[in-house]
Amino acid sequence: MGTGMNTSDILICGGGMVGASLGIALSGHGLSVTVLEQSPPRSPNPPSYDDRTLALNWATCNILKSLGVWAHIPQASPIRRVHTREEGRFGSVLLDAREQGFDSFGHVVFARDLGQALLRWLEACTDVTLLQPASLQGLHQDESGVRAEVSMGENSQTWHAPLLVAADGTHSQVRRLLQIPVEEEDYGQVAIISNVSTEKPHEGTAWECLSPQGPFALLPLSDQRCGVVWSVPAAEKQHWLEMEDADFLARLQQRFGYRLGRFTRVGRRASYPLKRVVPLETVWHRTVLIGNAAHAVHPLSAQGFNLGIRDVAVLAETLLQARREQGESWDPGLPSLLQPYRARRLPDHQRILRWTDGMVRLYRQTLPPVGLARQLGLNLIAHLPALQRGILGITMGLLEQDNPLVRGETL
Ligand SMILES: Cc1cc2nc3c(=O)[nH]c(=O)nc-3n(C[C@H](O)[C@H](O)[C@H](O)COP(=O)(O)OP(=O)(O)OC[C@H]3O[C@@H](n4cnc5c(N)ncnc54)[C@H](O)[C@@H]3O)c2cc1C
Repeated sequence: MGTGMNTSDILICGGGMVGASLGIALSGHGLSVTVLEQSPPRSPNPPSYDDRTLALNWATCNILKSLGVWAHIPQASPIRRVHTREEGRFGSVLLDAREQGFDSFGHVVFARDLGQALLRWLEACTDVTLLQPASLQGLHQDESGVRAEVSMGENSQTWHAPLLVAADGTHSQVRRLLQIPVEEEDYGQVAIISNVSTEKPHEGTAWECLSPQGPFALLPLSDQRCGVVWSVPAAEKQHWLEMEDADFLARLQQRFGYRLGRFTRVGRRASYPLKRVVPLETVWHRTVLIGNAAHAVHPLSAQGFNLGIRDVAVLAETLLQARREQGESWDPGLPSLLQPYRARRLPDHQRILRWTDGMVRLYRQTLPPVGLARQLGLNLIAHLPALQRGILGITMGLLEQDNPLVRGETL
């Protein structure tokens, strides 16, 4: 049953980590913002906010602080050191945040905790309407905006907005409805994630272990626990999910060794398919794609959300600046506003895509000369501070400091 036409200045499809962050960033500036989220409110298993542990880099922590969300995330564990090595080869790189001039490289949080903090904050924003469960079903574009058909259980609603933001994830419905072509690569791997307790304290060290079988990471958590992200061949997914806890711990111990003593307990395991999905356009007639809808990357190097929230920071800055300059007569969906946004985000997108995809490809190679080159590369990084600073610039989001939120300031 339809209920007439509803209007909003900005319609955000997807209330996951990225969509919710944008709703919060736009709140308090005299705009009407509507967020559509298809999962039911307070669902025990929301799609975006699950058991994963997320490494949030320096820029992301600053953005979340600027948005007022940071203080509401429990158990954020600082990353003070990052240790990277290739399995079965000599040489490793240990980067220490203090030596690089930072208190920490970032923090590790549970996606579930971050999600709860974001949604609570979003619900408190009186100028943002959160429709949930509300699933986008159809789209029609006209000269003045985008008309969205939204299904809400038994009912349906129609919304019209001069700007639609697609924050609906890797399999974006907006992208599908607008027939925006994508470049897609299945890496043939799944990430098995879980949490483990360790005998010795991790002391804030994140461990990244690379190998042609797929990367493996241990992220420091509170209470002497670590988050495990382990990439395995997709064909072995069931085997890894169903094996006994004791077998999983034994395999982990074999892979990681005894630097943290014995692994004593393991939590629930879950798997995620690993794909690179990149649309050929991220701006499309009064529609802008952000977050995973605009770039789904391999979790190696933990860059996905970190990249997506920088879309939020720059889009919010662009929209609010235009609003301040143009007042009530502003139109947030005009190409004159969206194209400069796209041009500003493109280098960051390309850098992170090249970095993650390049690392996956480099470490997939089994040819001995490539292995030797990788070993040499790690040794160079270990000894060349300029190279270390270059890598940290990319992975910590330091290159995007022209945005106030990234610097920890408000808009
Ligand atoms: C194993 C793993 C580990 C990771 N680790 C890290 C890490 O350490 N650091 C990091 O930065 N990133 C990490 N990532 C990446 C990160 O999880 C994603 O980049 C991030 O979740 C993307 O957020 P999003 O809001 O764009 O999309 P999503 O989280 O997918 O949210 C999309 C939302 O849109 C909603 N939606 C979808 N379709 C519709 C519709 N038709 N109508 C209404 N709503 C809709 C969904 O219900 C969902 O809530 C990891 C990813 C994986 C798989």
